[in-house]
Amino acid sequence: MQVGMSDIGSTPIRGESGLGRNGQRTRRVAGRLIDIVGYLDWVAMSLLCPLHDSHKLINTISTMNVMTTIPQPIVCSTVHMNRYSHLLTSLSASSSLSHVKQIHAQILRSGLDRSNSLIIKLVLSACTLYSPSFDYALSVFYQMHNPEPHLSNKLLRELSRSIKPEKALLAYAKMREQGFIVDSFSLPPLLKASTRISALSEGMELHGFASKMDFVSDPFVQTGLVAMYSACGHIEDARLMFDKMPERDIVAWNIMIDGYCGSGLYHSVLPLIEEMKRSNVKPDEKIFSTVVSACGRAGNLDFGKAFHEFITENEVMVDYNLQCALVIMYAGCGSMDMATNMFKNLSPKNIVVSTAMITGYSKAGQIEAARLIFDQMTEKDLICWSAMISRYADGVQPQKALQLFDKMLTSGVKPDQVTMLSVISACASLGALDNAITIQSYIDENRFSGVLPVNNALIDMYAKCGELDRARQVFAQMHKRNVITWSSMIGAYAVHGDASNALDLFHEMKSQKVEPNSVTFVGLLYACSHAGLVEEGRKIFASMVNDYNITPKREHYGCMVDLYGRANLLKEALEVIEQMPMAPNVVIWGSLMAACRIYNEVELGEFAAKQVLELDPCHDGAHIFLSNIYAKERKWENVGEIRKLMQNKGVVKQRGCSRIEQDGEIHEFLTADKTHARVNEIYEKLDAVVSELEVAGYTPNMSCVLVDLDEEEKTKALLWHSEKLALCFGLLRQKRGSCIRIIKNLRVCEDCHNFMKLASKVYGVQIIVRDRTRFHRYEDGVCSCKDYW
Ligand SMILES: [Zn+2]
Ligand SMILES: [Zn+2]
Repeated sequence: MQVGMSDIGSTPIRGESGLGRNGQRTRRVAGRLIDIVGYLDWVAMSLLCPLHDSHKLINTISTMNVMTTIPQPIVCSTVHMNRYSHLLTSLSASSSLSHVKQIHAQILRSGLDRSNSLIIKLVLSACTLYSPSFDYALSVFYQMHNPEPHLSNKLLRELSRSIKPEKALLAYAKMREQGFIVDSFSLPPLLKASTRISALSEGMELHGFASKMDFVSDPFVQTGLVAMYSACGHIEDARLMFDKMPERDIVAWNIMIDGYCGSGLYHSVLPLIEEMKRSNVKPDEKIFSTVVSACGRAGNLDFGKAFHEFITENEVMVDYNLQCALVIMYAGCGSMDMATNMFKNLSPKNIVVSTAMITGYSKAGQIEAARLIFDQMTEKDLICWSAMISRYADGVQPQKALQLFDKMLTSGVKPDQVTMLSVISACASLGALDNAITIQSYIDENRFSGVLPVNNALIDMYAKCGELDRARQVFAQMHKRNVITWSSMIGAYAVHGDASNALDLFHEMKSQKVEPNSVTFVGLLYACSHAGLVEEGRKIFASMVNDYNITPKREHYGCMVDLYGRANLLKEALEVIEQMPMAPNVVIWGSLMAACRIYNEVELGEFAAKQVLELDPCHDGAHIFLSNIYAKERKWENVGEIRKLMQNKGVVKQRGCSRIEQDGEIHEFLTADKTHARVNEIYEKLDAVVSELEVAGYTPNMSCVLVDLDEEEKTKALLWHSEKLALCFGLLRQKRGSCIRIIKNLRVCEDCHNFMKLASKVYGVQIIVRDRTRFHRYEDGVCSCKDYW
């Protein structure tokens, strides 16, 4: 909006009286001149005087009381002029606050400090520096002598669009206090500032002031008020103001529509656009893009579709931006078919749209499709690299996250904290120690090591790689720790079956006055249940409820069921299930079933297994458990029934998968896997290992497989377990005294557990197996879990 004297003259603040017709015309001329030359007030005027009747002009201006700071006489020496323009040029070129202050000193020395236009230029310069100093700017502004409103408004406008819009409101309060003149042109920037910081009470005060001064009929003020109310969430007040506007331009309509989208009131958008059409304002493409984008952000597919139909029916020109917005909306709402169709026809395919497609596909579980788009992108920024890496890290292919991270670094894109957290989490789920160590050195070299969430993630990563010592090292070196840090370290001890360190750390945490949260207690209870510390676990549960007022969640009850179940306190375990306020889930019934299996509690076990099957009819473990207890009791009819059920439902035992890392490369084995490049060597090694272990007392434990399988199937189902294959692959290379690390997706079975124990003794190696729930560290024939898992 332009502020000129011609406009200012029409506001009620200024006295109109005393000016004749001639005077008014001259005033208009002067106004235009001032408009053209801006802040070159008296200097400019004296320069321009020869073009007009200078005497009359100055008289008029004086009468108008516009130029309160005109030095007299209005005769300007060339020296003065040069100095003035020199200072102006310097101000335009100033790049630092110290430079601005030097110019300020020169202004004071030259006596030009009475020129408000020069001072306001100085003030604006301080506001528009690379590192602006608003406080300095305002302190200079407050010292001005009654600055003309058009000058003050320049400052308000600058502040309202700066990084600190609140300073505009601060300046306004002070201006009123000091009696500076405020006019209707002051209001739009002030309302804009209120809008940007959602300052409702300040906005309402401005509304009151506008009504009092009769500025409220100004369309710019009205539009500002609509925007302010809408940004502050008072959408009804915004609409009230909007409806009062006699003339509404496209900006006002856009603000109102945007406001409805922002408040999630999509049902009000279409009627408003219809009304807009009726009032002969043609909606622009921008408005359609705005609405479509808002639908995408809100995930409101229904309205998004309806709006798309509206666009088609009304033959709206779908330009490139609107096309992009539609693709992003459909992808964001998970409607990938629609998104894909529109994306195909989009040209060029820019980074933002492609990234939206990647995210959409990933969320829909179509990671291959996401990767296809990713690979087709000619230009990639950090956001799209990060999106792709995080999808791999969260999914079932964490190794691909690491490969992609390497590629990203090679392409010269620098990762941020978000990328690093994804990469660390990929390492953690892989349990790949070599990779983990490489990532940590990258973190140390690239100054991520001081970042709290990164360090917390590193603790978890090392714990999951079976490296408690390194996890503890990261913990010890942290300068800042929060509850997540402590909980992560406690959880690390817990999954390694080291309850005593977990409990010690909890006491240290309390002594350092860090308030534990519900996650901390999951770790503690888990540690107790896996170490058989029933009494300690009971006390911790009670303390959580009574001392810390934490309402137990399902996980906490699950730990208690596990705690009692593992300790053969099955009655207590069942009591926990019966008394918990929420419905028990598959995991809880499953852990009771597992305890019943260990302690041969057939009746309760059968009950628990049936509960599991009710919640998850295809649960393989429950079918196998039932089939085996029926077989043990020679109820062959029931066994047959279960087998038939399994066939009918297509229940197959979830295939075991074990990973082992060698020279930074990850080798994966499924049960009975024959795909590895060195398959023959591995199976030969397995035969050799089995024979050697049998000498040491190993006999296959068939209780882990379905009893009615034939002999070959049984062997396959037992000896070809993935962790045994991974172990044999490791043994091909490993020497005595070394360490073999295996990561398994399922719980390790009793037979494999025994196998590993014996292997660690016979071959003199340490074997660390991470199964679905915990770590087993086998050394010299003994496991760290003390056979309690
Ligand atoms: Zn096994
Ligand atoms: Zn174990």
